[in-house]
Amino acid sequence: QRQNEIDSLYIALNFAKDFFKQQLQTPDGQAIGLSYFKERDLRDGTIDAFDLGYSSSAWDAFTKEALSKHYNLDILQKAGLTIVNDKGRQYDRFRDRVIFPIHNLSGRVIAFGARIMTNDKNQPKYLNSPETEVYHKSRILYGIYQAKNAIRQVDNCYLAEGYMDVISLHQAGIQNVVASSGTSLTKEQIQLISRFTKNVTMLYDGDAAGIKASIRGTDLLLEEGLNVKIVIFPDNDDPDSYVRKVGSVAFQEFVKNNSQDFITFKVKLYSKEIKDDPYRKSEVIKEMVASNIKIPDPIQRSVFRRQIAHLLDVDEQTLITEENFLIKKER
Ligand code: ATP
Ligand code: MN
Ligand code: MN
Ligand code: MN
Repeated sequence: QRQNEIDSLYIALNFAKDFFKQQLQTPDGQAIGLSYFKERDLRDGTIDAFDLGYSSSAWDAFTKEALSKHYNLDILQKAGLTIVNDKGRQYDRFRDRVIFPIHNLSGRVIAFGARIMTNDKNQPKYLNSPETEVYHKSRILYGIYQAKNAIRQVDNCYLAEGYMDVISLHQAGIQNVVASSGTSLTKEQIQLISRFTKNVTMLYDGDAAGIKASIRGTDLLLEEGLNVKIVIFPDNDDPDSYVRKVGSVAFQEFVKNNSQDFITFKVKLYSKEIKDDPYRKSEVIKEMVASNIKIPDPIQRSVFRRQIAHLLDVDEQTLITEENFLIKKER
């Protein structure tokens, strides 16, 4: 029974994916949706590889088409595609947007992200499918299906924030990249990555939100025993804008030269505020120790402890005392 329903959801989602793809090739779709993608420098092969699509501004173009093909309204609702309001009116969730299908590990479409094509601040820039029986956003990473072989091959996973970061890098020949899609990273997502590699390089946006998210994500990655490097892009840049600005060779060079471990990252990040403020400096050291004790491997932990000691000029024994204090407190 439940399996039947899940199969129906997959079939409806796949139908929706095909519908949005077709819409992109209609005269309106080309003039509005396709030209949006072209303005963002996407090529046809890239658009195809990610199954990108378009939804018109009509209220119920998709729902009408699906019902006429005998898709069940209840399933369309459960798939997050159709919304029925309290007056009983049926309408499409995704309207007047470009569409980014979200694939699971085996390549099935499980959800959609959809972007407005203007700078209208009155509506959300991205709209996503709700949680459904087949879409649990905390368990999936955008692009994992397209990236998994490359991640295994390169033995490294680039972790970015957004849909366009994944797609742009992929187009630039950098295919080992997935995105958390704006939600904060979860343990399940990290375990998904660790099926393919133990090495993660975080490529988060250079803005305040991106930096904050990298700090949080780092602790979680360390806790799961992954090797983490962090790259911060120049302010106002993200991997998408940066790779389009400098090209893929310079991008890879930048990543290579700016990959920092979590200690170096924090020392640099806080360098100004801790310079003349011993109180702030102590807080930062404590924060680093708190991150360090999350690392399961004792050798790694001791290497990083020594690095904290060196870079912040504090002796290792003191750090060990603090570690033991924190460990006791957590129990
Ligand atoms: P773009 O380059 O298309 O403007 P972006 O990916 O750079 O988008 P960010 O503002 O950096 O956009 O957000 C990162 C990611 O967070 C997005 O790709 C999207 O997955 C998610 N996101 C952003 N805004 C929203 C929103 N209003 N609702 C839901 N998710 C969002
Ligand atoms: Mn951002
Ligand atoms: Mn962007
Ligand atoms: Mn961004």
